[in-house]
Amino acid sequence: MQETKTDNDFDLIIIGGGLAGASLACALRNIAHENTPLKIAVVEAFALDSDAQPSYDDRTVALSYGSRCIFDGMGLWRSLSPYAQPIDTIHISDRGHFGVTRLTKEQEGVDALGYVLENRSIGQQLYATMLDDAVKNISLFCPAQLAGLQQDEHGVSVELVVDGEIKQLKGKLLVAADGNNSQVMKLLAIGNSRQDYQQSALITNITPGKKHNNVAYERFTDSGPLAFLPMTENRCSVVWTLGTQQAEELCALDEKDFIARLQERFGYRLGQIKKVGSRHVYPLFLQSATQMVQGRVALIGNAAHSVHPVAGQGFNLALRDIALLSELLVDSLSAGDDLSRPEVLQVLLQEYVSQREQDIKRVYRFTDTLVKTFSNSISPIGHLRSISLQLVDIVPDIKHQLALQSMGLTLGSSTRLTRLNRGLSL
Ligand SMILES: Cc1cc2nc3c(=O)[nH]c(=O)nc-3n(C[C@H](O)[C@H](O)[C@H](O)COP(=O)(O)OP(=O)(O)OC[C@H]3O[C@@H](n4cnc5c(N)ncnc54)[C@H](O)[C@@H]3O)c2cc1C
Repeated sequence: MQETKTDNDFDLIIIGGGLAGASLACALRNIAHENTPLKIAVVEAFALDSDAQPSYDDRTVALSYGSRCIFDGMGLWRSLSPYAQPIDTIHISDRGHFGVTRLTKEQEGVDALGYVLENRSIGQQLYATMLDDAVKNISLFCPAQLAGLQQDEHGVSVELVVDGEIKQLKGKLLVAADGNNSQVMKLLAIGNSRQDYQQSALITNITPGKKHNNVAYERFTDSGPLAFLPMTENRCSVVWTLGTQQAEELCALDEKDFIARLQERFGYRLGQIKKVGSRHVYPLFLQSATQMVQGRVALIGNAAHSVHPVAGQGFNLALRDIALLSELLVDSLSAGDDLSRPEVLQVLLQEYVSQREQDIKRVYRFTDTLVKTFSNSISPIGHLRSISLQLVDIVPDIKHQLALQSMGLTLGSSTRLTRLNRGLSL
């Protein structure tokens, strides 16, 4: 490793400028210790407006109340909120069975149970922040692909392909935020365990005949869950879980036939569906990296864990990775720690792994149980789940626990509640 400092020397290199990587960079914008900025490089393969950009596509995310607090703490909620539609009520039902439960913002004493935003809008705000003239410590390499990665006890070194040329960057810490097909993990031979659900999510936006009144509908059907989430301009984001072949078939239908099939599954709570946007299909799986850290490398977001979108938990989980990792980094810098010292980084990253474990495992269990319980057409299970939905509705404590999980506020007793989790700045 070279000792001399160059413009290509960074404290932190983030591979992947998708939802997770860009959020981490923004959380750490203008962070400095004794006037020395924390130098950050963000490496992203696709331009923000490219059709191939896989993170900022036609999807929406349901942000939990807890994630809104994290964005508040980062000082980003003010720029995101004009694009956010609040969720005042979550209505959970089971098609063909009597159980229904409602979670409301009034019962939970919050402004909103969550918010729905388009991925593209989040991307635009995150990129505007990273590229803002007032932000001095972030260098964005985009489009640029990761081609090589080496690390030793003193630092990491990456080779990028930028405009067909090889460029080398050096850093003290590297964060893999390059999604569930992570090149960083391949280069470091980090494995993952993967459970394929043999299901896909068909996503689209629709305009309903009636006002959505900020209600999010989660409807469990014998083929899988169907969510209608309230969006701006009285649109609804639809996430429809189906067998993969069925999802492809429905995606290929003409608009009239597609609306008829969707209406038949969802019913008429929102009136007649008037318009439908473009449709896309995503395969669904539960994936978990075998290591969250290796040497000077830490994983966040989908690289570390991908979950079924049934309860809208994936990006919310990533934001909690980010809240912890950024706090550990800031506290370490404030204490005057030198991140190039291997023992300093090792302590920091071990803390990251141990503090994230419980929350991640609980989200795996929560989503996996929902998928398996509510994607089943066997009759006794159907009766059981309608009874459980009724129980949730009449037993306030169970309902409150479900609401807390949906709002991203149950982190587990051994999980540190960071400043960002509490809506406070770093
Ligand atoms: C249908 C569906 C609905 C969802 N709904 C919700 C929801 O309501 N709420 C919620 O919280 N979550 C939801 N999620 C999950 C959410 O989309 C993910 O958690 C989120 O995208 C994770 O972001 P990420 O940045 O970790 O990964 P990604 O979004 O996959 O981004 C990875 C980035 O890394 C870049 N990259 C990859 N390889 C390289 C390389 N070699 N070099 C440089 N850059 C590279 C990619 O171009 C991309 O920009 C949903 C997911 C699906 C599939």
